Amino acid sequence: MSFETIGLNPSILKALLDSGYTAPTPVQEQAIPAAIAGKDLLVSSQTGSGKTAAFMLPSLHRLAGNESEASQGRTPNQEKQAAAARGERPRFKAAQPKMLVLTPTRELALQVTTNTDKYSGNLRRIKAVSILGGMPYPKQMQLLSRNPEILVATPGRLIDHMESGKIDFSELQILVLDEADRMLDMGFIDDIEKIVAATPENRQTMLFSATLDGVVGNMARRITKNPQVIQI
Ligand code: AMP
Repeated sequence: MSFETIGLNPSILKALLDSGYTAPTPVQEQAIPAAIAGKDLLVSSQTGSGKTAAFMLPSLHRLAGNESEASQGRTPNQEKQAAAARGERPRFKAAQPKMLVLTPTRELALQVTTNTDKYSGNLRRIKAVSILGGMPYPKQMQLLSRNPEILVATPGRLIDHMESGKIDFSELQILVLDEADRMLDMGFIDDIEKIVAATPENRQTMLFSATLDGVVGNMARRITKNPQVIQI
């Protein structure tokens, strides 16, 4: 199987070629076609298996399909100019991401964001932003005000922004839990439940974890619908 035969968007294929990726890894071979078809996924795989691309490539492919629709809307800057022209004072509008990736650590979130930038480099309208504990609030507000399509976040800081009305998940299409077992080990279960409850029922959910047994397995089955289970 190749990335071409999977049928990925040509702009994404070009980015993969430029990154020197010649063929999908085993987890990507199984995950990408199922995720493009819109299925929920439960994936047991290790770091180094290529799991980031396994969830990000099909997600970018699906979001890119909405690009023409998105381009009919106003950019945040055009919104501001239109409001000023009407004599209104600019208001903060909550970010409405289409995709959310939850990770246990800042390091993993930054790594996911860097890889996403690499894969989405030729997709003009798709931008990813990391929302992390320890990052100054004004900087995060500035990033959120650009209304990015993709948020990559650690759970605690994301909850702060959700509760203060800076992020609205009503338009969310894709939710990814990366290293879900580690997030649970770190005590993020309540935060994760709260975040999942704020997202639409009809979202696509992909959960990646070293193990799919026990507590993580229970949560995984609760938050996914008829998932494809992939064990590498
Ligand atoms: P991950 O498991 O997502 O942390 O990825 C491990 C490393 O493999 C990262 O440096 C990726 O850039 C790289 N990688 C992922 N998929 C491929 C692929 N199909 N071909 C070559 N390198 C890849």
